[in-house]
Amino acid sequence: MSETPRQITLDEWDRAYERLQAAGVPQPVYGGPLGRHVADGDTRLLKLRFDSSLAALQLWNFLLTEEDRLRAARDAGKKLVGTMKDLGTVPVMAYSLDNLVAFYPDGAWWIPCVMEVNSGLLQIADSLGIDESFCPVRAMLGAFVTEAHFPIPDLLTCSVGATCDDFSAIAQRLNGLGHPILWWEIPHRRPPESDEDGVHLPGGFSAPRSQIQFVKAELERVAIALQDLAGRALDDEALARGIAQANHVRRLLAKLRDAAFTATPCPMPALEMLIAEMLAIHFCSDREETVVVLQELLDEVNRRVLAGVGYLPDQAARVFWVNPVADLQVLNLLEDCGGRICGTEYLFAHALDPIPLDVPPMEALARMALADPMAGSAVDRAARIVADIRRLGAEAVIVSRIPGASHCALEGEIIGEIVREECGIPVLEIEVPPLTDAVYPSLRTRLEALVETVVNRRSR
Ligand code: SF4
Repeated sequence: MSETPRQITLDEWDRAYERLQAAGVPQPVYGGPLGRHVADGDTRLLKLRFDSSLAALQLWNFLLTEEDRLRAARDAGKKLVGTMKDLGTVPVMAYSLDNLVAFYPDGAWWIPCVMEVNSGLLQIADSLGIDESFCPVRAMLGAFVTEAHFPIPDLLTCSVGATCDDFSAIAQRLNGLGHPILWWEIPHRRPPESDEDGVHLPGGFSAPRSQIQFVKAELERVAIALQDLAGRALDDEALARGIAQANHVRRLLAKLRDAAFTATPCPMPALEMLIAEMLAIHFCSDREETVVVLQELLDEVNRRVLAGVGYLPDQAARVFWVNPVADLQVLNLLEDCGGRICGTEYLFAHALDPIPLDVPPMEALARMALADPMAGSAVDRAARIVADIRRLGAEAVIVSRIPGASHCALEGEIIGEIVREECGIPVLEIEVPPLTDAVYPSLRTRLEALVETVVNRRSR
């Protein structure tokens, strides 16, 4: 491929793929032209622009073949665990047993975007009383009904307690539809009182030791269910091995984020970086291959940094992005408007932090689960965002609201106020529905205005 990175269309990628094949460039078993995924209904791909590297091709193909991998795992006799809501904890436990494969049914969140609302999943959710007043994760209900997107798991787990109202209601509806769920609780995280023993958590928060003990006991219940399903022991040794592997993935991702967010010019577009971050949560149903995919991406980024090549002019506005975008196309749009991502908080920052190694494995996982930015207050979440903004030198923040999401009604305002006060940089709040086509021109105007503001502030 070309030394100079480019963002190319799906058609361009498919023509490039033909040239790769003619040249005999080897591809992984899940490789192939990206265009074939459109035939499966992933029509949004036609509107996206993709990084032109082989590493990015591999990343996209890995992401878009997860359903095939899950079915192959089941055919090979493995058991499937649908882990819901905790984002990054139970999968570490499940992958500690080599005959279990964990995935997030919550990933259906993106189906309305990727299939451009043609999957019928939202209509099914509507018919089950879960309408557009809920966040796009309601598509998950439709995916369970149609069984057309992922196999029905052998075990379903779901964290409750400090979780959003949307997910609680939707998971309860799912349970009512005949899909039994093993519920486990994460309490709302609070700082320790002066007379309480406190524990520092990954990511900088703290919590009373009693909360850690509570979550640990909850995870022990989950571990028993996983052991029963696997028919083998999930002891400390197995968990420690699983944590070491998860930390390997997290270390790779940390290097990738560091290089991609800080190098000039920007060595990897925002869209590919979002997908790379998502791999850390549950390894896209193949932990070993996740390592390969991330390593390739990191090698590509390092090559570009060394060669001084990348995207956007050096003076591109440095934007910190809060919350995942329901429409992937909006990350392309930011770059069209002259902005680049220099930091993110996509609701799962805790799943990117290294899991502590200086305490017994189950306690380490409990600490990680409680470090979820969504398990505490919006003020806590803002504090972590502020620390990252300072570290990464962001010049503006975009908080993208998720339509219907219960936590989005107020938290954007709270985060915005704190960021403005602490960092003195502009904050833009936008709403990003699964398909932004109708609001695309106004979104463009708002992003262009933000970039212009950043540039004007520099000359003050
Ligand atoms: S409301 Fe927010 S946290 Fe809850 S499922 Fe939707 S996006 Fe996730």
